[in-house]
Amino acid sequence: MANVSEELYGSVEKGPLSTVRHSAAHVMAHAVRDLWPEVKIAIGPAIEDGFYYDFDKPEPFTPDDLEKIEERMRQIVEEKRPFEYAEVTRAEAKQLFADEPYKLEILEGIADGEKVSTYTSGEFVDLCRGPHVPDTGHIKAFKLLSIAGAYWRGDSRRRMLQRIYGTAFETPEELAAYLERLEEAKKRDHRKLGRELDLFSIQEDAGPGLVFWHPKGALVRKCIEDYWRDAHLKGGYDLVNTPHIARQDLWRTSGHLDFFNENMYEPMEVEGSPYLIKPMNCPFHLLIYKSRLRSYREMPIRWAELGTVYRYEPSGVLHGLMRVRGFTQDDAHIICRPDQLEDETVRVLDFVVSMLTKFGFTDYEVYLSTKPEKFVGTEDGWAKATDALRSALDARSMAYDVDEGGGAFYGPKIDIKIRDAIGRVWQCSTIQVDFNEPERFDITYVGAENQAVRPIMIHRALLGSLERFMGVLIEHYAGAFPLWLAPVQAIVLPIADRHIEYGEKVLSQLAEAGIRARLDTRNEKTGYKIREAQIQKVPYMLIVGDREAEAGAVSVRSREDGDMGSRQLGEFIESVAAQLT
Ligand SMILES: [Zn+2]
Ligand SMILES: [Zn+2]
Repeated sequence: MANVSEELYGSVEKGPLSTVRHSAAHVMAHAVRDLWPEVKIAIGPAIEDGFYYDFDKPEPFTPDDLEKIEERMRQIVEEKRPFEYAEVTRAEAKQLFADEPYKLEILEGIADGEKVSTYTSGEFVDLCRGPHVPDTGHIKAFKLLSIAGAYWRGDSRRRMLQRIYGTAFETPEELAAYLERLEEAKKRDHRKLGRELDLFSIQEDAGPGLVFWHPKGALVRKCIEDYWRDAHLKGGYDLVNTPHIARQDLWRTSGHLDFFNENMYEPMEVEGSPYLIKPMNCPFHLLIYKSRLRSYREMPIRWAELGTVYRYEPSGVLHGLMRVRGFTQDDAHIICRPDQLEDETVRVLDFVVSMLTKFGFTDYEVYLSTKPEKFVGTEDGWAKATDALRSALDARSMAYDVDEGGGAFYGPKIDIKIRDAIGRVWQCSTIQVDFNEPERFDITYVGAENQAVRPIMIHRALLGSLERFMGVLIEHYAGAFPLWLAPVQAIVLPIADRHIEYGEKVLSQLAEAGIRARLDTRNEKTGYKIREAQIQKVPYMLIVGDREAEAGAVSVRSREDGDMGSRQLGEFIESVAAQLT
């Protein structure tokens, strides 16, 4: 219960900036109360990039209202009203918040014996544990950003409140930089670009969180998959393929029915026995492992699969490609001898770096998560595995933070987050040791002395899921995929109908050279076609008219550099091929 009151009653994110933001949330509620005295107030925490406050107000807030609220907030800030702390009894608190049903409910959730406190600035009193800045004058740079619906306590059976999001920073310069980044992020929103570039859709008719790849999106995905599979084969992995459903009993053996149940869908019945759609690929790989006897000589085993899994997520948290219900993990399991764990981890780290670099990500944050309070396996096993992960990171001189006690119950792990073009951080790669599944499936290999030995299992993903990674890629590149990933690499634009024939010749030579090209035969002005190809972020536009047809040339326009002049077709094809190798 401590967690519940923590979230509802005080500032969640800790640190000086969070204190400023949470204080700004108070000032916002204060301003709202001044403008609309009948409004009921709920909660107002600091969050990752700012703060919010939830209000119960019959009429919806409008964008104009946000301006009014900001204006009133500025006045309160100028008045430098101190935040005064007071401890109150439960009875006093009930009296103080008699007209505030949400505050009364929060009060109910505060454990007996816990202190109840309020903060007052001017005539505005809030039930709060703090901390806050000394007075409202310390809130120097803030901005209200948006209005959204939010169920009270995130529960769709409870009342829908209105949430106003805002942000605050310590200086106006930092605020301006953040707002600029927000604008940039809006332009790059993968849902918007996905529509404009015709890459994917999510269809209400099919259900939320399920992704439909349109031809161009499917082509980008194919490029990623081809590269991924080749890199794995070159990197000493074998590829496997496994089904989408399996008997419920398998998920009982694996333990998923216990610890992963809330993310799994209801069983379907097949000839009287229940089957489940897979939320993970691991048990399937272990069944392949168990299909015959294994020897210490064949270790390590590295099996990779682009495995599509389905997990339940509440519809309220689904978001474009970033949070979905069906997705394809770029999964692999390494099953090795205990003495191989460190070397295998080093190999995976190298693989992570080469793969992420290929996609244009070179800035990482690395985390090592260690043994949590509740764990399976032995103290000794954990210590050795954690040391192996640590040594592997050191061997590659990777800087990392330790998340003490942040490991999964089944083993220690390394998580790698990437920084994108506008400085946002995304979790993609993970390397997790697992002491649980090998035990549950009772997998062994025959050791050098003919004894049965329990191997170590590593789960690892480099990109995370193809859906989410595509979302990150779209936003990182703002839709302008690098040449090797661009669904259409070149578009041929005939100036007039009489140039279509030559355009077709150009197209077929491009196709023969393996360049993904299209021919735009529509009866539109060339300028219009160029603008459209530019919006579609096609790397090369090849304009062909009389002169080009006569000379066997193309007039090249690049997405980045504009007009590049006329080139012999052969010469252009060679230069593209050179960029692709
Ligand atoms: Zn507070
Ligand atoms: Zn796994």
